[in-house]
Amino acid sequence: MTDLNFRYRKCKKYFNCDVGKITFLIERERPHFEKNIVCPKCGILSMDDVELTEPGQTRLAAVYMSEI
Ligand SMILES: [Zn+2]
Repeated sequence: MTDLNFRYRKCKKYFNCDVGKITFLIERERPHFEKNIVCPKCGILSMDDVELTEPGQTRLAAVYMSEI
């Protein structure tokens, strides 16, 4: 499991979410998450609705570095 820290643009809530396995595809700009991003208040969100926070980006970068 991989916990990433997100911020939902609409409710402005910060939350940690387990996105499962992260797959990095060269042809795609975004990484693919195995599990849905879920805001504890609003439920399932799409990638377009959320932004990765600073710690979230750092964590994602660390996962990326460990995969290549
Ligand atoms: Zn929310």
